[in-house]
Amino acid sequence: METATLPVQDHIPAVSLFGVRVHAVSMDEAVRYILRFVEEGVPRQAVTADSSMVVMAQTDRHLRDIINSADLVTPDSIGILWACHRRRIAMPERVSGVDIVTQLAKVSAQKGLRLFFLGAQPGVAEEAAVRLSQRYPGVQIAGWHHGYFPPEAESEVAEKIRQVRPDVLCVAMGIPKQEKWIDRYRYVLQVPVSIGVGGTFDVLSGRVRRAPLWMQRMGMEWLWRVGHNPRKIAKVMLLPRFAWMVLTNQHGIEVVRQ
Ligand code: UDP
Repeated sequence: METATLPVQDHIPAVSLFGVRVHAVSMDEAVRYILRFVEEGVPRQAVTADSSMVVMAQTDRHLRDIINSADLVTPDSIGILWACHRRRIAMPERVSGVDIVTQLAKVSAQKGLRLFFLGAQPGVAEEAAVRLSQRYPGVQIAGWHHGYFPPEAESEVAEKIRQVRPDVLCVAMGIPKQEKWIDRYRYVLQVPVSIGVGGTFDVLSGRVRRAPLWMQRMGMEWLWRVGHNPRKIAKVMLLPRFAWMVLTNQHGIEVVRQ
């Protein structure tokens, strides 16, 4: 894929939403950045930021610092697009974890990019890998591990990842656990790109169906997810807070870099 036309990483257009920096990138640009990072080989962190993450980062300083120092932060919710559009700030499109991993799988099948799947209930990451191999024959999944291990097993899991030397580590352990895990381990792992991808393996394994396209287009995917997983309610409870922040503090959203 062509990376020459992208601005260098320090110049990616970005918007601050209440102190949380999100890059104004399209799906295609996000994937091209990830591939560029893989070529460069320095351990980098990518974040898929949704509205709940912006709210969490208001009270979780560590999470906010991680997001703001990440190399790529994609706009992963309709709420973020809505907030920017209200301020007439360009934010191209939603760039979700599921779509990024799917695109990377496609590239992997063509070019041998090696992916590692960490997270979700035992068996789910493996099922996601199997399904992707059926969809994209030749996809290189270097390994997988579930996301329910105790703290004392962390270094063992990290060692397993380090040994197989993937190009991209996809971590699906929920916000903010996945972001903090990547932050703690990325230099130990020496994987070129680590990215937090939320419930991606649940979807790619087929255990959780994605919302119908019309619901996704209307920005109602969150409602579908709550219907299928009542544990999501805690996360959805943060959305009115986000809407309130957007409606009452328009100066909280500003362009950081064009
Ligand atoms: N998960 C995990 N380890 C944990 C907690 C959660 O692997 O300790 C997984 C969970 O099984 C699910 C994903 O993390 O696959 C979280 O999905 P969700 O859609 O809730 O992510 P978020 O909305 O926070 O991005």
